[in-house]
Amino acid sequence: MNSRANAPVVAIVGAGFSGTMVAVHLLREARRPLRVLLIERAETAAVGIAYREQSDRHLLNVRAEGMSAFPDQPGHFLKWLAALRGDEALVNPAAFLPRRLYGQYLCSLLADAAANSHPGVRLEMVQDEAVGIGVDHGAASLRLASGACLAADRLVLALGNPGPADPQVEDRRFYASPHYQGNAWAAQGLMSLRHDDDVMLIGSGLTTLDWIASLAERGHRGRIHVISRRGLLPQAHRPAASHTLSFDLDAVPATARGLTRRIRAEIAAVTASGGDWRSVMDALRPHGQRLWQRLPRAEQLRFLRHLRTCWDIHRHRAAPRNLDTVQRLIDSGQLEVLAARPIRYVEADGAVVVHLRPRGAGDSVSRRVQRVVNCTGPDGNYRRYNHPLMQSLREQGLAVVDDNGLGIETDRDGRLQQADGRTSACLYTLGPPRKGSLWETTAVPEIRGQAQALARQLLASVPMPATALIGRNDRSATDAQPSR
Ligand SMILES: Cc1cc2nc3c(=O)[nH]c(=O)nc-3n(C[C@H](O)[C@H](O)[C@H](O)COP(=O)(O)OP(=O)(O)OC[C@H]3O[C@@H](n4cnc5c(N)ncnc54)[C@H](O)[C@@H]3O)c2cc1C
Repeated sequence: MNSRANAPVVAIVGAGFSGTMVAVHLLREARRPLRVLLIERAETAAVGIAYREQSDRHLLNVRAEGMSAFPDQPGHFLKWLAALRGDEALVNPAAFLPRRLYGQYLCSLLADAAANSHPGVRLEMVQDEAVGIGVDHGAASLRLASGACLAADRLVLALGNPGPADPQVEDRRFYASPHYQGNAWAAQGLMSLRHDDDVMLIGSGLTTLDWIASLAERGHRGRIHVISRRGLLPQAHRPAASHTLSFDLDAVPATARGLTRRIRAEIAAVTASGGDWRSVMDALRPHGQRLWQRLPRAEQLRFLRHLRTCWDIHRHRAAPRNLDTVQRLIDSGQLEVLAARPIRYVEADGAVVVHLRPRGAGDSVSRRVQRVVNCTGPDGNYRRYNHPLMQSLREQGLAVVDDNGLGIETDRDGRLQQADGRTSACLYTLGPPRKGSLWETTAVPEIRGQAQALARQLLASVPMPATALIGRNDRSATDAQPSR
């Protein structure tokens, strides 16, 4: 066996931003033999759901200047862009760039880190889906959909978000219909739409804005109905001066209402002096995790029930260009936004009539469309996350869904909390699965710091010598072909 086969193994499931950046830090910082296995079910690694090849109209919802992948190098993405364009003057730090470009950035970071790693430190790409997990004597084994098994000294679950849940209706048969697209991010759905088809988009968040942008780009002529419980669209980004909060965060009452009142008062003071509410939201962002953790569970639930939508549309803002497109389509009568929820679907003559219950009104209304697209975004309830990997974790007590159902329980370093109350010796996670304990953990500005800290922790704790990697029929990860 050569030294590489003896090297410790860190396996990472999921090559979106989170998993890719853990791998990048491991490859850049490891100074002794290490095998980094990056396991991704999709064809393209590094880009995840957000940054894969897609329309140029699908824009980052953070300005370019905020999108460095490294917490300690704020200008890194801008520098990469300048090198790509051959001229710094062509880079606008305040621009909302195509997300596809950010995917290219992440691919190049991974390729560079792999090419320049210390001798004996190696990246191995595995295109497969992790479907089961086991832990024995502090090491993990992973079962893949292909039948292969991998062993690892440390395992990072960088799984991102669960897919969307179908809206609740009594008769769910429609969700198997070709008129229904259950996952808005499945790219082929848009291609099969005819230009005159009427379409209903369920949900009115950033995914819906992507769909509207794509429909507009294609010159879609059919009507577009957007429905969501409150009928509220994300607010637009606008330039806003930086602001220092005038209150002591630790003195804010630890209740949803107390917090809201304090934030509203701050916004009122800022707008009264000619400022913009966005300054206050931006000033709050670095403290989002602390504010969330100060709330007792009952207050977190109250926030989720009553304030979440309001928070989301102000906090997760959209590129102005996307909202301009929406307004243009509303003005032309092609697009309507309704506060309503679906209650029944009736298919007939190549279309579906969607019966809707408008918010606050007793009488139902209906719309006839050729396609219904679920744009509700990730299912916020981890208790319903029934992927075999998650089932396997839960059944063995290796992971516990947090009290609010938003993610899985971890300690402050991202180590999984087990059902027996102990902390896992080898399983970690980062990013969206930590939403229950951190709340602010789903976007680049938060995840980049977690990725770096986790990689450093892994490097400090990974044992030497490593467990060997043995698969079914002796198939090892080294035999698994890199997918790209
Ligand atoms: C459409 C969209 C746009 C966004 N835009 C922005 C933005 O502009 N700025 C910003 O800061 N944030 C944005 N975000 C937030 C985004 O979620 C984070 O920035 C970040 O990309 C999350 O990365 P992740 O790796 O945690 O999750 P994901 O990107 O979801 O990656 C998880 C990966 O794990 C893989 N995977 C999951 N389970 C398995 C398994 N069992 N086996 C193998 N592979 C598996 C998936 O295929 C996927 O590739 C956006 C999110 C979405 C969905």
